[in-house]
Amino acid sequence: MPKPPNSFKKNAPEFHKKKKSKSAPEVTAPSHKVEEVEEVYELVSFNDLGLNANIAKAVSDLGFETPTPIQAKAIPVLISGRDLIGQAQTGTGKTAAFALPIVQSMDMSLMEPQALILAPTRELAIQVAGGIYEFAKGSNLRIVPVYGGQPIDRQFRSLRAGAHIVVGTPGRILDHLRRGSLSFAAVKMCVLDEADEMLALGFAEDLDSILAELPAQRQLAFFSATMPPRILALTKKFLHDPVHVAIKSKQRTLDTTNQTYYEVPNGKKREALARVLDMETPGATIVFCRTRADCNDLSEDLRIRGYNADALHGDMNQAERDRVMRRFREGQSDLLIATDVAARGLDIDHVTHVINYDIPWDVEQYIHRIGRTGRAGRSGDAITLVTGRERQQLRNIERMIGSTIKPARIPTAADIVARRQEVFQDTLRETLAAGEYSNFLASVNQLADEFDTTEIAAAALHMLWQSQHSAAANVAEEMAHDGEQPELGMSRLFIGMGRQDGLRPGDLVGAITNEAGINGQAIGVIDILDNMSFVEVPSASAEKVVMALRNTKIRNRVVNVKLARANEQPMEQEMSRGGGGKGKFRKDGPRR
Ligand code: AMP
Repeated sequence: MPKPPNSFKKNAPEFHKKKKSKSAPEVTAPSHKVEEVEEVYELVSFNDLGLNANIAKAVSDLGFETPTPIQAKAIPVLISGRDLIGQAQTGTGKTAAFALPIVQSMDMSLMEPQALILAPTRELAIQVAGGIYEFAKGSNLRIVPVYGGQPIDRQFRSLRAGAHIVVGTPGRILDHLRRGSLSFAAVKMCVLDEADEMLALGFAEDLDSILAELPAQRQLAFFSATMPPRILALTKKFLHDPVHVAIKSKQRTLDTTNQTYYEVPNGKKREALARVLDMETPGATIVFCRTRADCNDLSEDLRIRGYNADALHGDMNQAERDRVMRRFREGQSDLLIATDVAARGLDIDHVTHVINYDIPWDVEQYIHRIGRTGRAGRSGDAITLVTGRERQQLRNIERMIGSTIKPARIPTAADIVARRQEVFQDTLRETLAAGEYSNFLASVNQLADEFDTTEIAAAALHMLWQSQHSAAANVAEEMAHDGEQPELGMSRLFIGMGRQDGLRPGDLVGAITNEAGINGQAIGVIDILDNMSFVEVPSASAEKVVMALRNTKIRNRVVNVKLARANEQPMEQEMSRGGGGKGKFRKDGPRR
């Protein structure tokens, strides 16, 4: 028997006391009250949101230190059982905002769909399902994604095997509902993710039909970046007394900081960062990442590339933090790779650059980060690395700070060499000005009997350049062939077969699910190139998948499969294709 709905109500914290409520000006006459959260950048902890110990641990294991603004506001509302309208863009952490309360509310003993998540595209559906899977690691929670393009038979089987949570595109969800392969009887929670996007894609009627079929007693949450009238109409029709959460910030200006951004192809941030660092030759720099794991990985990667980088995050004990801070203050390290929490309260005057490796959640976080540079009357530089899907968030930040952030071009390898020569010449000028060369004058005079002095100088510089830059040249070579970074917890596999061999994403998904026994929903991005392909699988299963694929035939061929290290598409090539992950294959063909 399904449990009665609204089991979300337990643990409801008194969260909204502090907030001011008023009507949001941009929303045309909503019938409900809009809880507009003023910009106080308060530090909320995941422990304050009403999450149980298992979920809090899963979140901590993922390296999340603090909730994002939409999480801080939405999670308590959803746990309290209320309907919700959450105004949030992609990349603001909205998946966890609804997924954590959903996972927490699941009755594991009931193998019936208890939560339904609707997403505009199969790509997002897969991403959301993958995200939930991460939050529920170690439990027996079953999440089934269903979306158009994938053979429906396979979805019948998955649904028959049982699901607690179904994530899907509206068309396919409706299809399953009508065919009887999906029942809403036990659904107590339904989320519309990117509701405005779903309407823009023409899903209005499907959504209406789906929402009308939900049990009367259920909780509904709409997440949407914008609130056009058609969304408001839907909320009026289906939501019961919703809490409308919109994160609103005051306009601010940042006068003493030079702000630029670099647009980076997906998966190329590390390489881009290395190039920007080489070009900017910054002094003390703080690089902000979202998670502790990202801080650790990035600082290690930078050290391998020859930079003096240290991680600083909440998982370190006081002695470690003190050591890292001392090294940074004293100039023994130049780069501090930090989470926001760890960098809070840092008071260091000589920071010349702040780099947003991950774009901030909102303008408040942006301002907090940027405030670490440009201190003591000096001007500072703030650099933000942005992938395609983060561009909208950058625009929001620009709107709120009331100025544009200048775009900059990622330096090419040739730019970096030219810059190094410039720096080299500057050092030489300083040596000449200081007259620190007299012990070599005798040698030059001797050589001058045989060679022209200009040539002697050039040869000496050549020797010096070689000795200084041979290590850097190796790194540059490695950088040019750097692999794309898979999602956290995922590994990228190289498959020695591509489009020209007739390979389609379905072949890979089929081979991996059948031969390695991996659930299709756990498979990540698939990239099919002309004569090779890449597929992301959970790291824990990567070895098993490699072995299984080596022992089978794909499209009747034995294929070379290995863990991907090098990527055959260097960054310049990606940039000239327009970056932003173009050419990424959707696992499931055309939309719907
Ligand atoms: P989303 O907007 O849900 O697509 O999330 C954007 C990215 O932020 C994902 O990679 C999440 O794993 C990550 N993320 C979500 N919440 C947090 C958090 N509280 N702290 C750090 N990273 C997070």
